Amino acid sequence: MQTHKNILVTGGAGFIGSTFVAQSVARGQRVIVLDALTYAGNKANLEWIKPDNYQLVIGNIKDGALVSALLRDHSIDAVVHFAAESHVDNSISKPAEFIETNIVGTYILLEAAREYWNGLAADKKRDFRFLHVSTDEVYGSLGESGKFDENTAMKPNSPYSASKAASDHLAHAWFATYGLPTIITNCSNNYGPRQFPEKLIPLTITNAVSGKKLPVYGDGKNIRDWIHVEDHCRGIALALEKGNTGETYCFGGNAEIRNIEVVSKICTILDTVKPKNSGKYESQIEFVKDRLGHDYRYSIDDSKACSKLGFTRQYNFDSGILATVKWYLENRK
Ligand code: NAD
Repeated sequence: MQTHKNILVTGGAGFIGSTFVAQSVARGQRVIVLDALTYAGNKANLEWIKPDNYQLVIGNIKDGALVSALLRDHSIDAVVHFAAESHVDNSISKPAEFIETNIVGTYILLEAAREYWNGLAADKKRDFRFLHVSTDEVYGSLGESGKFDENTAMKPNSPYSASKAASDHLAHAWFATYGLPTIITNCSNNYGPRQFPEKLIPLTITNAVSGKKLPVYGDGKNIRDWIHVEDHCRGIALALEKGNTGETYCFGGNAEIRNIEVVSKICTILDTVKPKNSGKYESQIEFVKDRLGHDYRYSIDDSKACSKLGFTRQYNFDSGILATVKWYLENRK
């Protein structure tokens, strides 16, 4: 039984947001998607979902009047905030948009939500939630050992992770100062269908089958903890329904893998499911100059989400990556 019936999902035409919209609609919730359709957003990410129970509004989270009208007109009882500039490389070359969307945009959303929430009847006020979706990158970089959890101090290294850390602080401050019922989730690297092919996994798959080079930063030994996007979205839904306001929940994939191993795995899968006329896909791998300030390792201890929310993963990396490669082959467009 879901407490929240009418959800405003920002960034719902992006990779993770669209998966969350699909799961919410399948649970019988009504979803209003607010998305600016930047280069990373795509209407087609939503078009496979039964249209009856969601509505896409094309607009910017920085448009406070629009956000207020959506909250009011659709009797929204939860905001799930995905909208962000999300690519670390872009944040290094062009940080301004990250400050605008991730920090200023989150501030404007929080203010619109606070004003709306203040005007709600007592029972609706009690049940209202603002869930802010964030990343484990806010915690910085790990060495060979250790894991991040909800108590890890933030130490972001890239303009992207710094902008996300700032927005996490704002979401918490709106709870501590004004009592707005916010919840924050910090998750490790996601993979799965509909991810924009600028990120490692979709870039590798699409470049491989186009016969292009497969760029790998530095020596390829950096480690990420990969979670399937559907597992992440199930975790967010649990945090929304069962999480305590003012608290943070971390989600991980329990799948720490070096970047070079991720690329090699994809090559091996492609060698089987779409063999080349001659040679192996691995021959396309090219080591390139390392990313500036490249975090070495991320790893998440999500035992709080497991014990307090009942979070479990349905994918392991091997089954998830095979399904993902097949999805990209079937959806090249
Ligand atoms: P994405 O880039 O695929 O999607 C972002 C969406 O936000 C796009 O649809 C875009 O059009 C929209 N958007 C951008 N600026 C906007 C604005 N000003 N107003 C309205 N809409 C706007 O990103 P994603 O990978 O789906 O990530 C979603 C969220 O999850 C982000 O907040 C990100 O920080 C967080 N996150 C991502 C990962 C990951 O591995 N991808 C991991 C943990 C957390």
